[in-house]
Amino acid sequence: MKDCGRIVKIPYHAYLIEDAEYTMLVDTGSSVRWKELHPKEMQESSPVHMEEHEHLDRILESIGFSTTDVNYVINTHLHYDHCGNNEMFHKATFHVNEAELAHAIAPGWWEAPNYIRAVFDIPGLKYETVRGGLEIEPGIRIIPTPGHSEGHQSVAVQLEKTGWLVIAGDAIFLRENVEGPVLPGLYVDARKYARSVYKLKRFLDANKGTMILSHSREYLLSVGWKQMEEGIQTFT
Ligand SMILES: [Zn+2]
Repeated sequence: MKDCGRIVKIPYHAYLIEDAEYTMLVDTGSSVRWKELHPKEMQESSPVHMEEHEHLDRILESIGFSTTDVNYVINTHLHYDHCGNNEMFHKATFHVNEAELAHAIAPGWWEAPNYIRAVFDIPGLKYETVRGGLEIEPGIRIIPTPGHSEGHQSVAVQLEKTGWLVIAGDAIFLRENVEGPVLPGLYVDARKYARSVYKLKRFLDANKGTMILSHSREYLLSVGWKQMEEGIQTFT
């Protein structure tokens, strides 16, 4: 690890996958109701900076989608900043790794602070558990990448023009975690974490494509994410 204790600002994301047959989201970001749902001490230690036009439902509206259009949501994991707006998608089926859901519901003390049950355990939401890897639709692969959390999963999407887009989620936060390699500040199992990074690297060695890291603004800019200030980027 390096730079321990340094406070940084990090982006949160949700990814919309549009297909003729379905509309899918990967992750739902931090809750728009974080001031009601996040514990007081977390509100102080990890405040969310979000304007109303950055609320996930408003962003979807701005590109012609409503929350009820979403058929599937894949949560890379259930840390509060990746499933915060699950409650907006009552018509969707949620795909979450089996171990992840079990740990999110009954976490050990070492992993508990990042699971906020009020943001994902919503009556009426349909969770389907995933074990291991899965091709959920043609060209949409769930790749198990545990280590950051017990049941973390990444998603690889085969795009028409640009090859595979690997949504690493928190399997890789920052460029340094791949290139160092440096362990991130947050993981439950270092050995599994390292293997997961290696697995994603190998996938990209074998397949033409790009990887999106979860919380690195600098990395996103470097892979062509030019419209960060508008908050929306398109890959085709
Ligand atoms: Zn996380």
